[in-house]
Amino acid sequence: YGDPSQKIDYVFKVVLIGDSAVGKSQILARYARDEFSLDSKATIGVEFQTRTLVIDHKSVKAQIWDTAGQERYRAVTSAYYRGAVGAMLVYDITRRQTFDHIPRWLEELRAHADKNIVIILIGNKSDLVDQRAIPTEDAKEFAEKEGLFFLETSAFNATNVESAFSTVLTEIFNIVN
Ligand code: GDP
Ligand code: MG
Repeated sequence: YGDPSQKIDYVFKVVLIGDSAVGKSQILARYARDEFSLDSKATIGVEFQTRTLVIDHKSVKAQIWDTAGQERYRAVTSAYYRGAVGAMLVYDITRRQTFDHIPRWLEELRAHADKNIVIILIGNKSDLVDQRAIPTEDAKEFAEKEGLFFLETSAFNATNVESAFSTVLTEIFNIVN
């Protein structure tokens, strides 16, 4: 699909990781198709989706991979991480456990992915203000300590979803240029 005459300058593989039900598939649906569904089963089985964008007059195809329900610790295989230049490490701001598991995911990522991979920590479901369990400051502090980018997003109302992807993709672009 798309315009076949369009020249692609770069393809960047980005992986989504984090516990089950934090909103990874919905973040991707929002970014790739501007869609959101309350029924998470809707996107099961999708391997990756793409979106082409222009950075500095170059066309960049972002190929974003979603774990098809393999979020159990160590169930994500090394093939998933192979060739990835970016990673989005997602937790749910309303569920403490999903944030507490972030160090494990980071360890997993550092064990399997390229050492120069660009990582952003994402606190998703920022629309659920009354259910917040993780203060923004705590996550920000953790991200700074680990050298990660950080943003809170909502796939539901689209807050910061574009920014999260453009932060990662622009940083990758700057590294390869
Ligand atoms: P995954 O297992 O990490 O891929 O999570 P899903 O994308 O399947 O989302 C799990 C559930 O959380 C679904 O019911 C989604 O509709 C819901 N969800 C995802 N993102 C958001 C969000 O930003 N806000 C709210 N309120 N719900 C969300
Ligand atoms: Mg999913």
